[in-house]
Amino acid sequence: MTTAMAAGEAATLLKHEVAGDFPDARGRYGPFGGRYVPETVVPALERLEAGIGRWLKDPEFAAELNDQLSTWVGRPTPLSYAAALSRRWGARVFLKREDLAHTGAHKINNAIGQALLAKRLGAKRIVAETGAGQHGVACAAASARLGLPCTVYMGAIDCERQAPNVGRMKLLGTTVVPVTGGDQTLRAAIDEAMRDWVSDPTDTYYLLGSVVGPHPYPYLVRELQSVIGREARAQMIRQAGGMPDAVFACVGGGSNSIGMFYPFVADSGVRLVGVEAGGRGPALGDNAATLSLGSPGVLQGSFSILLQDADGQIQETHSVSAGLDYPGVGPEHALLQRAQRVDYEYAMDDEALAALAECCEAEGILLAIETAHAFSGARRWAKAHPGSTILICVSGRGDKDMPTLQKTLLKGKL
Ligand SMILES: *Cc1c(COP(=O)(O)O)cnc(C)c1O
Repeated sequence: MTTAMAAGEAATLLKHEVAGDFPDARGRYGPFGGRYVPETVVPALERLEAGIGRWLKDPEFAAELNDQLSTWVGRPTPLSYAAALSRRWGARVFLKREDLAHTGAHKINNAIGQALLAKRLGAKRIVAETGAGQHGVACAAASARLGLPCTVYMGAIDCERQAPNVGRMKLLGTTVVPVTGGDQTLRAAIDEAMRDWVSDPTDTYYLLGSVVGPHPYPYLVRELQSVIGREARAQMIRQAGGMPDAVFACVGGGSNSIGMFYPFVADSGVRLVGVEAGGRGPALGDNAATLSLGSPGVLQGSFSILLQDADGQIQETHSVSAGLDYPGVGPEHALLQRAQRVDYEYAMDDEALAALAECCEAEGILLAIETAHAFSGARRWAKAHPGSTILICVSGRGDKDMPTLQKTLLKGKL
C-alpha cells in the first residue's frame, strides 16, 4: 500500500472506531475480527450475543456488577503518583493500580462480569481456559463467589509450570482438567474449553479470558475491562489536572491494554502505546511480539495478526512472562494499529526484568513481569520526552512470578 492510501484508510477506520461503530453487525473491527468457527459453534455464539444485548446495559445488571466491583473486587483501584520514578525519568509518572484488585490483576474485572452474565443466562456451570493460571484463578474466585461450579482446562505443560495456581484454583473449589492433546499449553486449553461448552451451551457458560476468540467475546471483554480506562481518565483529570501525554500498557491477548486505551481513543492528543514481549530477539519463535512482527491470519475463531511461518503454521512463542506468551492478539488491536491510533512496540526479557527491579526499588511495588514490559516502554518514551505526563497500567502484581525471579534477577543473590 502507498503511504497516502494507508493514511486515507487509517483516517476512515479511526473515524468509525471513535464513533463506536466497531464491532459492526458481523462482529468486525474494519477488516479484523469476525467469527471463523465450525457451524456447530455458531448457535452458542448467537445465544451469547443475544444475552449480551439483553443484559450488559440493563440498569439492574449494571448495579449488581458495580456492587461486586466495589465491595468484592476493590474498585475503584487507586491512581498512584510515582514520585521517585518521575525524578529518575524526568517526567510525571502516574500508575493505575490493577495490581490492587482482588486476586492481584485486572483479570477479575472480566471474570466477575461474565460470571454474573452467566447467572442471568441461566447457566448451571462455568468452563474456562487458562495458560499461566491467572485467568483460571480469577474464574475460580468469581464462580465461588456466585455459587457456580467451575471447570478450568489447562495445558498439561502449564499445570506443571504453574503448580501454585493449580493449587489456588483447587482451594477455590474449581476442577482443573489437564489437557494432554495439541500443544499442551494455552491454545489446546482454549480448544478443549470451547468443545465442552458447545456440547451443552444452555447449561454451560464459557468464560473466555482476553479480547480474543470469535465475536462477541472481544467486544464483551472490552466492555468489562474498560472500567480501567474510565476510572483512570477521571482520576487523571482530578489528580494530575488533565490528560496524560502518553498511556502505556502491556499486550498479551490485549485485555488490560484495550481496557485502558478504549476510553482514551477519542482524545487525539493522547499517545497510546502497547508494549509486547520481545523475548530473546526478533526471530520467529524467540518472542511474542505479535503486532510488531506478525502477519494477518485466522487463529481461534478470529481474523487478526498472528505469529506464523511462511506456510501459515502458528509458531511457538517465547517470553519470560507466561501471561504474554501467546501467538495471537485481539482483533481490535489489529484495527487500532491499522488505524494508526495505537503504537505497538516491544520490550525484551532483560529490559522488562530491569524495569521490574527499578520499580521495586523506587516505588515499593513488585510488578508482574507482564506489567514490567509496559514500564520499559514508558521509561524509553519518558527519556525522549522530558517533562511529559505519563500514565501506565499496572496490570498485576508480581508475587506469582517469584519462581521466575529466583532464577533470573535473584540468581546468585540468595
Ligand atoms: C494475563 C495477564 C496479562 C496479559 O493479558 P492481556 O489480556 O493482554 O491483558 C498482563 N498482565 C497480567 C498481570 C496478567 O495476568
